[in-house]
Amino acid sequence: MTTFNIKKTPLWAFGLVAGLTLISAGIAQQPRTVDAKILRTAGTAKDAMPGTWLTYGLSQNEQRYSQLKQIDESNVAKLGLAWSAPLPAAAGARGGRGGTEGTPLMWNNTIYQSMDNSIVYALDARTGEQKWMYDAKIDPATSTHMCCGTHNRGLALSEGKLILAANDARLIALDAITGKELWQSKVADINQYYSMTIAPRIAGDKVIVGVGGGEFFIRGFFAAYNLKDGSLAWKFHTVPPKPGEPFEDKAQEAAAKTWTGDWAKYGGGGPVWDGLVYDPEDNLVIAGTGNAEPWPQEMRGIPKSEWGKWDNLYTCSIVAVDANTGKLKWYYQTVPTDSWDFDSVGGFIMADIPIDGKTRKVIMQAPKSGVFYILDRTNGQFISAQPFVPVNWVTGFDKKNNGKPIINQDAYYNQENSVVIYPGGGGAHNWAPMSYNPNTGLVYLPYAAGSYTFNAAAEPDPHAGGGAHGLGRGGQDHKSTPMPIWGPENVGRSGLQARDPKTNTIKWVKPGRGSSTGGGTLTTASNLLFQIAGTALYAYKADSGDELLALPFNLPGGAPPITYMVDGTQYIGFATGTRFMALKVGGTEKMPDAPPRGAGFGRGRGGPRGGAAPPPPPPPAGDGLHGQDKQ
Ligand code: CA
Repeated sequence: MTTFNIKKTPLWAFGLVAGLTLISAGIAQQPRTVDAKILRTAGTAKDAMPGTWLTYGLSQNEQRYSQLKQIDESNVAKLGLAWSAPLPAAAGARGGRGGTEGTPLMWNNTIYQSMDNSIVYALDARTGEQKWMYDAKIDPATSTHMCCGTHNRGLALSEGKLILAANDARLIALDAITGKELWQSKVADINQYYSMTIAPRIAGDKVIVGVGGGEFFIRGFFAAYNLKDGSLAWKFHTVPPKPGEPFEDKAQEAAAKTWTGDWAKYGGGGPVWDGLVYDPEDNLVIAGTGNAEPWPQEMRGIPKSEWGKWDNLYTCSIVAVDANTGKLKWYYQTVPTDSWDFDSVGGFIMADIPIDGKTRKVIMQAPKSGVFYILDRTNGQFISAQPFVPVNWVTGFDKKNNGKPIINQDAYYNQENSVVIYPGGGGAHNWAPMSYNPNTGLVYLPYAAGSYTFNAAAEPDPHAGGGAHGLGRGGQDHKSTPMPIWGPENVGRSGLQARDPKTNTIKWVKPGRGSSTGGGTLTTASNLLFQIAGTALYAYKADSGDELLALPFNLPGGAPPITYMVDGTQYIGFATGTRFMALKVGGTEKMPDAPPRGAGFGRGRGGPRGGAAPPPPPPPAGDGLHGQDKQ
């Protein structure tokens, strides 16, 4: 029996022991905090928190490539439902207008899922039990000021804070453990038709966010806020200030030289609503910018005799700025003089790839224009561009001019002349995440092919969005000038494409599987590729594309899938419009029944979110034309 000898043990020692015990108990209860250093390792072979999903694209290079191997070719066919959890509507639900697009995060055994109308759920990653729910309480009256829906694409996490870009252009920090609000920052004015759907990204001690609303004639920008308190660090405008107003910096002065006439009447456009990355090696923030506004260049002040001569920077561009200052480092315009709503906003992937015998630090994008662009991310140098679906707006890329697209002059239009443009409405690749597997060296890209007829309205309506520009009709217009079509054959109207960036060519393609929107793809170190398409989860061999699993989950609104590991079990998880689904090998829970036809699911993807949600409001008048444009 051991006893303390009180006389030989000073009292301070008891205090020390007790204190140490409390400290160690406290450490055991407190999860390890995510910070900029840990984020840099996220999803990589040196992952400091293996099994988690800490940032939108899993790693900061946004490859959506998981190191987890427990689920593999031998057992993926046995994936079944481990648990599912309701994602109920908030009190006073505003309906499922926007659909579910959020990539969840997973940290501290918790799934963080953002839903439309700026609602966030924290669920136990092992059981689905709800830990907390947060509702940003968007004023329903402001929804008519949101050009393209009320969805949300995901959250950012660092320093114990969970960051939400709310639909009404507020940036909100929550305590990741409790869900309590820590700070709010007004990024832009919803009454000026700015809105947000983007997943913020962390860049060191800052959080980066961009605004939507391009169809509503905004002046686009992206900006950095200090994670600590939500104060503004810097802002980069994607179009210049109105003529006569002072330039913010030299980049704006340069951009102003690419606009003419009375362009500022309608804002200029250039929204930043999806593609955004932080490159810590080069300390760059790289953003994709949306369409010029209004769509027909004549309405942006360009007379017919000068069509195609004014680039309208920095719309439809890939823009890199210094992460500390927000000052322009380089840009590449994917579509000069955009006239077809070819937002260059699709998600980016960064990778180090051997090209022509040299390892290149590339950034890749497959935006709505139907062209797969590969640039050197350190300096914006053009490496290659190739159509991944049939296109006719571009005839080539000028290698002597850093790969500037050569626009087909017959692709322009006005009120008198309509044109049939390939690719079609919604774009060849919209927001559905691509992924990249460094083992196979392939990019996995959901796409849509097709055409669209454009012509111009007499006058744009700045409060009604794209559809009210009167810009076009679906289908063919045989009176328009036929133009040569360039690009791959046999891709069908939509599908899944595996692309080799070393040669910028198709390795294999699955026509009919998926589209340019929807849950997108995820790939793993065990040679698996997952895809959410329609109401099913598919798994393929990542190298060959051989199908290994087709698992219907029956609910609409399947958002991007993630994979994570808790308590030694690997899961595949994703949100639908009404439930979060978590699958594991040998999962035996029953899949939900398909909802009855005509059950009131909004726009075929979102749906009511449980309980007594009122019927969804009618779709917004804006952007009825390109209904899948998700600013
Ligand atoms: Ca657009």
